[in-house]
Amino acid sequence: MNIANVIVDVPSQNTNRPFDYKIPEKFEGIVQPGVRVIVPFGPRKIMGYVVSLSAESSFDKVKNITDVLDVTPTLTPELLHLGKWLSQQTLSYYISCLQVMLPQVMKAKYRKELWKLTEASLDSELDALFDGRAVMDYEEFEKSGVSYQVLRKHIHEGEVDVHYEVKSRETKKVTPMVEPQVDEMKLEETLIDLSNQAKKQRAIVEFFIENKEPIPKKQLLETLSTTAASLKPLVKDGVIREYKQEVFRDPYENHEFERTTPFQLTEEQAAAIQPILKTIDQRQHDVFLLHGVTGSGKTEVYLQSIQKVIDEGNEAIMLVPEIALTPQMVERFKGRFGSKVAVLHSALSAGEKYDEWRKIQRKEVQVVVGARSAIFAPFTKIGLIIIDEEHETSYKQEDRTRYHARDVAVERGKTHGCPVVLGSATPALESYARAVKGNYQLLTLSKRMNEAVMPEVELVDMREELHEGNRSMFSRTLKEKIEDRLAKKEQVVLFLNRRGYSTFVMCRDCGHVSECPHCDIALTYHKNQHRLKCHYCSHEEPMPTECPECESKTIRYFGTGTQKVEETLQQLIPEARVIRMDVDTTRRKGAHERLLTQFGEHKADILLGTQMIAKGLDFGNVTLVGVMAADALLNLPDFRASEKTFQLMTQVSGRAGRHEKPGEVIVQTYTPEHYSIDLASQYDYEQFFNEEMKLRKAFNYPPYYFLTLFTVSHPNQLKVQEVTQKIVQFMRQKLSDQAHVLGPTPSALTRINNRYRYQCMVKYKKEPEQRKLVERILHYYEDEMKQENGLQITVDFQPYQLM
Ligand code: ADP
Ligand code: ZN
Ligand code: ZN
Repeated sequence: MNIANVIVDVPSQNTNRPFDYKIPEKFEGIVQPGVRVIVPFGPRKIMGYVVSLSAESSFDKVKNITDVLDVTPTLTPELLHLGKWLSQQTLSYYISCLQVMLPQVMKAKYRKELWKLTEASLDSELDALFDGRAVMDYEEFEKSGVSYQVLRKHIHEGEVDVHYEVKSRETKKVTPMVEPQVDEMKLEETLIDLSNQAKKQRAIVEFFIENKEPIPKKQLLETLSTTAASLKPLVKDGVIREYKQEVFRDPYENHEFERTTPFQLTEEQAAAIQPILKTIDQRQHDVFLLHGVTGSGKTEVYLQSIQKVIDEGNEAIMLVPEIALTPQMVERFKGRFGSKVAVLHSALSAGEKYDEWRKIQRKEVQVVVGARSAIFAPFTKIGLIIIDEEHETSYKQEDRTRYHARDVAVERGKTHGCPVVLGSATPALESYARAVKGNYQLLTLSKRMNEAVMPEVELVDMREELHEGNRSMFSRTLKEKIEDRLAKKEQVVLFLNRRGYSTFVMCRDCGHVSECPHCDIALTYHKNQHRLKCHYCSHEEPMPTECPECESKTIRYFGTGTQKVEETLQQLIPEARVIRMDVDTTRRKGAHERLLTQFGEHKADILLGTQMIAKGLDFGNVTLVGVMAADALLNLPDFRASEKTFQLMTQVSGRAGRHEKPGEVIVQTYTPEHYSIDLASQYDYEQFFNEEMKLRKAFNYPPYYFLTLFTVSHPNQLKVQEVTQKIVQFMRQKLSDQAHVLGPTPSALTRINNRYRYQCMVKYKKEPEQRKLVERILHYYEDEMKQENGLQITVDFQPYQLM
């Protein structure tokens, strides 16, 4: 087995297969599947992943591996296999699929060092090389000629470690530790032998008679107010051992998490958890859909299921949407499982993420709570995978490797023989349809905790407000209710749908709207800089003082951003204390958490925000939720617009009246009669499901049909049309009569960054040949796609962004 089959870090069709490299003698036993290596590739040296080993190569000339980056494999055999599967599913390059599983820093540039972790002596050659130092450049070792096998022996014994310094030197931190190296009796003997003058040494020995646990050296010396000098003789005599331990930057280290204990489950919860526990017991794979209204205690069901998995010595993955990964959520998991939990989300620095990932890899935790990519956690004994808010579209990755975390979860669940639990108050239509058909097991929680009822929802027709002369963005009802809550010292959450609500600039005389010169999209007004910006490319320009069309001076900005709502609110109800949460106010690290804490401590009356406040918040004093404009989402060119509106309204309503005080929801809308708004106000998921399914059936959309979306882009509009047309023709010709091939159609965003965009949509039931056909298309255009700023074709087998 001295040939390594390596997937190199060159994402292209030609290189989308393993290349053979010889394993030089010095790396024998070190190069294994899952290890990252450096290999010569053409004139360059590049990184690659060893995916398998073989005894011989069918090629004559096989080059040597240049260097090895890992001592223990970075990817487990299961993940290597999963990468292969992922690349087939999404038609992306194998290398991209391997990369997508790893923390960012592992793909970055690295510098290697050798760290000596022991005071004991090593093999003489190696000791000579260290020459009394604790750290040296790896390069020095490579040049020295000392054997790799010697190094490996010491690494395996934990005496030396190879450190990959990724960009910054602080990727890993170590701290010197001390611990007794002999048993208690020997310590007592030592104490007797020590002279009375050796006060400090006696204190140290006495300390370790009391405390056997390792302790950071610094802490010991501080506690006993002594110096390293008094420690030295004890180390020399072998009574005490010094070593260095890697410390992880714990992003939550300054928090005290109050430990929580499991609740006595309600009857409904007990009935729902039973089948899950049973499957865990039987090590079976099964998919459950836990449909529970907000506040029905789904999270408690998750926690207790995870507890069982931990008790059995296995591991659990818990996915939550990025925006729901709030400090409150983390607290619930840390509170229950303490240090057994790793947390992975984008607010962590690259180094912190890497540390959390290492905890998983080193088996120091049994639970990971994280956003989408946490589904690739390098666990090896997975007993349960949970996806909370499973309907969230953020579980779908929208570039490169277009995977859906739900599919990956099911795939890993099958491999590990463990259940997958999908939870939501408003399941995706696709998931609920599967549950209705019996492909998923449906579990239902229909009641809120503590007899709490779902808050009453009142729809306010904004057209009527206008007819009656109220031009404000606040209806009279909403304003009155806010004032009422302020008087009662209760709190309010105001929700604004960001996406539907950009602040565009329009001329009141001629209706001219300022658009980006490179993209087909209105520019957004940014008040702070008084400039117009495009949200798709980097274009920006000053706010015009007169209309570029008709020179009228009545050019104004329209629409409503959170800033604008805040201003209006301050004019309307000056005494209200408002916390605004949006991209602008939460950019700084920790800001999100700080604002929520302030709100929780009632330092403000109103929490005003976008999508990021729609989920997971649990404040007992919130008794009113206002939705500024419910239909903002309905007008998007997306067949899921109604579903999204229903989901969002339900989520937002769930923020009110979660504890003793009853809640109330005011929804402002221009289309109160729309079924998604009407049924959301009645919390009637099933009726909504039925209505929506009728439409999906009538228009051949999921879950009745599958979709494949081709998006073609190029600077030249004719070229884009021509290529899309060809794709449409080819697919029409080759697919069965059951498939509908639509297009070419300009995408809803027809031009981004001066590139025209067209699409072809395929609706189909069963086309086993489809992926092969797509591969042929991509292959056909391969050369053109390599050119800079040339043709681009993306294919999405599970599209959520249709624009
Ligand atoms: P969901 O996740 O469905 O929105 P939660 O799990 O947040 O619901 O539960 C709502 C509230 O009820 C939380 O404050 C939670 O601590 C509490 N809770 C959950 N289960 C129980 C139980 N069995 N007994 C008492 N309180 C519970
Ligand atoms: Zn004008
Ligand atoms: Zn633009």
